[in-house]
Amino acid sequence: MKSLYKYLFLIILTQISYGQSMNFDMLHGNNNPNLVGDSIKLEKRTFNAFKKMEKAALMDGIELKIISAYRSYDRQKTIWNNKYLRFTKDYNLEPEKAINEIIRFSTIPGTSRHHWGTEIDIIDGKYEVNDDEDVLIAEKFKKNGVFYEMKKWLDSNSENYGFYIVYTDDQKRKGFEHEPWHFSYKPISMELLKLFRKSDLKKVIKNGEIKGSEYFTNEFIEKYIKEYILDINKDLK
Ligand SMILES: [Zn+2]
Repeated sequence: MKSLYKYLFLIILTQISYGQSMNFDMLHGNNNPNLVGDSIKLEKRTFNAFKKMEKAALMDGIELKIISAYRSYDRQKTIWNNKYLRFTKDYNLEPEKAINEIIRFSTIPGTSRHHWGTEIDIIDGKYEVNDDEDVLIAEKFKKNGVFYEMKKWLDSNSENYGFYIVYTDDQKRKGFEHEPWHFSYKPISMELLKLFRKSDLKKVIKNGEIKGSEYFTNEFIEKYIKEYILDINKDLK
């Protein structure tokens, strides 16, 4: 019984210490104090869990390669603004159409789960990527696709290490399209999602630095939060 109390006390202590190094700013991609790593940055517990999974995969002959992990607000803003310019200028799309095209796969800056350091996009490290090749294509993860073997391994093992698919292939799910490459470290990201929902998302989304944000109506923002942020794998909510 004594050891049970000790265990509970430790859990509470961990929660408190984690809570102290947490702030809304960090949830929106700025000043995250919990990151480790060089070119690929992750929240530290996510990093350790990934290292364990990576090692286990390697024992089975699978090379997991992270191609995207933590992303700052500024990085996401660059991605967004470049896409907005490409779709509106090069492809001549109306602003609303361009925005709907961008949010098939990319988030509005400030709302990316990649800001949290708990998310990873993975491909098979054995596969040689050409410079101009787009590797994050769902077909490549399906049967006969180059990443199928790796994907099968992840489907059977990743949850044992805490990593869950966010944007599932459930036909009834709305929001972002199916991303078989994107995994979230559940023990941390579930807590962060709770905090994230308490933040002033409307203010974050309606930011003048984001190209096209003048076309974000209240109706659009509400739909974006309900479908794109919250219609995810139910195991992560
Ligand atoms: Zn991703």
